[in-house]
Amino acid sequence: MTARIIDGAAVAASLRARLAEKVAALPYRPGLMVVLVGDDPASAVYVRAKDKAANAAGIAAQTIRLPASTTQADLLARIAQLNADAAVDGILVQLPLPAHIDTQAVVEAVDPAKDVDGFHPLNVGRLASGHPALVPCTPLGVMRLLGEAGTPLEGARALIAGRSAIVGRPMVSLMLAANATVTVAHSRTRDLAAECGRASIIVAAVGRPGLIRGDWIAPGATVIDVGTNRLPNGKLAGDVAFAEAAQVAGAITPVPGGVGPMTIACLLENTVTAAERRRNPA
Ligand code: NAP
Repeated sequence: MTARIIDGAAVAASLRARLAEKVAALPYRPGLMVVLVGDDPASAVYVRAKDKAANAAGIAAQTIRLPASTTQADLLARIAQLNADAAVDGILVQLPLPAHIDTQAVVEAVDPAKDVDGFHPLNVGRLASGHPALVPCTPLGVMRLLGEAGTPLEGARALIAGRSAIVGRPMVSLMLAANATVTVAHSRTRDLAAECGRASIIVAAVGRPGLIRGDWIAPGATVIDVGTNRLPNGKLAGDVAFAEAAQVAGAITPVPGGVGPMTIACLLENTVTAAERRRNPA
């Protein structure tokens, strides 16, 4: 079997186009504020990409750049201003923050209604307990890709490899909400190969290049590779041994060009969702 390649760049482009149409029809312009503290080069690249994509979709996005020496009190004061600003629908504080700042205190300072990263404990708790929430962008992107792949989720056995707060755990909640039967694997899992073999859906979010081998995968399974690992040769690789897996799986995402492009598209989706919920409360 040769797997269908799920083209994340194309799915993301079509989601962004749909959002741009939706935004154009709104009587207001959703506002997104991205806060970047310090000069981490990778963060600067991500922030520019988010700002550009949001503005291209008609969202009024701005980046607030603060020096690495910004104190926690100053950062919290800026967030309080953004929380109070009626034109701001979404607030994203780019992580990681400099070491002298308490990241969790900053995450908890963002108004949950404007928390477009879905990291605030209120959103985390709402998602985990099956209530509407702003959902972290990468797991939301995975759900959108599964939808695009036409993978049936109800009753399916899904294996989530990785239990981080930003990918694995929210992934579990989303899969449960979609009525999948979910197994979560992590670094203490005894036999990851056997767990993979029982699943018709695998979501890999581990951070180990090529960890999941082709012969671990059940024929026809859908494989979503969140892993984004920089190899010594500078290339990006996923957590799944792609060439092998593509011989066995029914559908698979590549790295790059799979989950990666969906993350920013889902940030835009969250911004529009936050704007609609905040400006037209049910
Ligand atoms: P993380 O916080 O480091 O978590 C990794 C998880 O993998 C942990 O739960 C860990 O288990 C588990 N793990 C480690 N070794 C394992 C093994 N041998 N077998 C099974 N599980 C194992 O990483 P993350 O932030 O979730 O990111 C995971 C990957 O996704 C990374 O490559 C990251 O770059 C990528 N990522 C991509 C995007 C995107 O495309 N937009 C966004 C976010 C992350 P323990 O809990 O036991 O330590």
